[in-house]
Amino acid sequence: MAKNKFQNRGDNKKAGGPKSGMKFRGITQQLVGAFIIFMVITWAYSYIQTGKNTPTIPISEFASLVSQKQISSITVAGDTITGIKEDKTSVQSKKEANASIFQTLSAYGVSTSTLSTTNITVQGEKGLAFWGSLIPIILPILFLAFMIWWLARGIKGANMQALSFGQSRAKIIDPNDAKEKVTFKDVAGAKEAKEELMEIVEFLRAPKKFIDIGAQIPKGVLLMGAPGTGKTMLARAVAGEAGVPFLHLSGSEFEEMFVGVGASRVRDLFDMAKKSSPAIIFIDEIDAVGRTRSASIGGQGEGREQTLNQILVEMDGFEPTQNLIVMAATNRPDVLDQALLRPGRFDRRVILELPDRSDREAILSVHIKTKPLAEDVNLKVIAERTPGFSGADLASLMNEAAILAAREGRKTIAQYDLIRSIEKVMLGPERKSHVLTPKEKKITAYHEAGHALVASCLPDADPVHKISIIARGHAGGYTLKLPFDERRLMSKSAFLDDIAMSMGGYVAEKEIFGDITTGPSNDLQVATNMARAMVTKYGMSELGPIALVPEGDNQMRGIYGKDYSESFGEKIDSEVKRIMDEAWQRARTIILEKKNALIAIAEELMRVENIERAEFENLLIANGITPKKREEVV
Ligand code: ADP
Ligand code: ZN
Repeated sequence: MAKNKFQNRGDNKKAGGPKSGMKFRGITQQLVGAFIIFMVITWAYSYIQTGKNTPTIPISEFASLVSQKQISSITVAGDTITGIKEDKTSVQSKKEANASIFQTLSAYGVSTSTLSTTNITVQGEKGLAFWGSLIPIILPILFLAFMIWWLARGIKGANMQALSFGQSRAKIIDPNDAKEKVTFKDVAGAKEAKEELMEIVEFLRAPKKFIDIGAQIPKGVLLMGAPGTGKTMLARAVAGEAGVPFLHLSGSEFEEMFVGVGASRVRDLFDMAKKSSPAIIFIDEIDAVGRTRSASIGGQGEGREQTLNQILVEMDGFEPTQNLIVMAATNRPDVLDQALLRPGRFDRRVILELPDRSDREAILSVHIKTKPLAEDVNLKVIAERTPGFSGADLASLMNEAAILAAREGRKTIAQYDLIRSIEKVMLGPERKSHVLTPKEKKITAYHEAGHALVASCLPDADPVHKISIIARGHAGGYTLKLPFDERRLMSKSAFLDDIAMSMGGYVAEKEIFGDITTGPSNDLQVATNMARAMVTKYGMSELGPIALVPEGDNQMRGIYGKDYSESFGEKIDSEVKRIMDEAWQRARTIILEKKNALIAIAEELMRVENIERAEFENLLIANGITPKKREEVV
């Protein structure tokens, strides 16, 4: 489970996906709720009807009770007669609807004198009894109406309503909304991107200047960069700087169950923007609709194509004088349809790189503005330790640190909180409940020690920063390595060393325990991917300088088939196998030669669970290995 800085850091923002499943569950819940309410009402009604459990007796029996003077008063409501007995209990009976109480009782032989001494109250037909008889009819109707209303409401939520089908769901940010306003000052780093976008800002502020001189104003700007590099933020900042409304919609929101909805949403979005021009339209994740058309997979292709065409039509359709700028963001520029990139469309491209060390420090400084820091905080150190972090990662690091401090009842964030948060953001939270058996703990310790040892003995692997056998996220343990300096280019020897280092855990398990667990499976996956990329993408193998994968998209490999012949495919596979085997041998040689160091590291790991860089280097020195030093550039 070697974790280097690039692994395990997926696109954490874009989870979610279609919500219809959730909505469906919502409706079921509502139905159950409605049913329960219905049951309660029915029960309550029948309870009221039976009138506190008054026993109902035949009219003949009722009459004889009256004759025996056991009933002192009678209430008549419609055809229901209720008699109160001497002991204050009551009995009920029914009489014929169109016969009076006197007639009925007389017919059953109650004497007139008895009747005259009995207290008889007749309630009008239109009293409670009348309404009471209507309740069984009205209630179900009301209930049905209620149900229909309820369901309709639910369905509306489930995106199926006919009313607002094609309406765009754009969120508009008003330029006068101070709370929502973002400016270039809020975006740290990204100097080049800001410079490029300044031109757009100036155009939106004073379009006339540009139009008068006949300058071509871009209509579309494509922001490209990894997730969390601040694309959305930058687009908002352009709107904020120019003081124009910002209409925001995500590419995935065009996707609908029904073909044509996406296209009509696009139309709506542009109409809306034209009305509030000058304005910025921002389409996030444009790759969701703008994928190369032929590459569409499955049934949803058609709707997407229409959506894409509509975007193109709209972009061609407005004049520069309309003061609209369409900005779009993607982290997959390689899969975009070429038609989107033509002149007059998204012909401006702004690339957002992952921030380098000084930019990371700047981003951290932006995010501490609202947070009280302890005196020991040194953002420079944090920036050094976070290569590969995006702006969003850094923002979440700051937030995690604040949560840690608050949970421990402190008023300020300390350096220690920040350091602990780095690992949390990188690898996920610690899983303290994940208890290893002593045997598993031993295997994990040797596995991680294997990675660390191999990394320390190979010249082009990054130095080890920390080793841990505390489970985090998906990893049972991890070896964290960080480069001395940020790497922009990977060399062949660095690849080979990385592959060997990934193999370190596997080899250590095999050599020490004579057996292999499922632990190294992810390591092998990572290593194999690297080896395959070396062969098919970077020309770093015996096959020579040749690229064999379709541009960019690995997922498309299976669909397009291969660009190369079967026999060439075999050569690729055997090259990959050779690279893997050689890496395995290199790792094995190191582990066997330095077995004493491996044991020392693993034993220490079992004892303390975490080893930081300084202790680790001491262990290496004690076992005759010289730790790596930063290379001096000549
Ligand atoms: P993207 O759209 O590229 O995925 P976002 O613009 O949504 O990324 O960025 C996510 C969050 O990351 C922002 O809300 C912000 O807090 C933080 N962030 C990213 N880049 C920067 C930056 N350069 N300066 C300050 N904060 C940033
Ligand atoms: Zn491993």
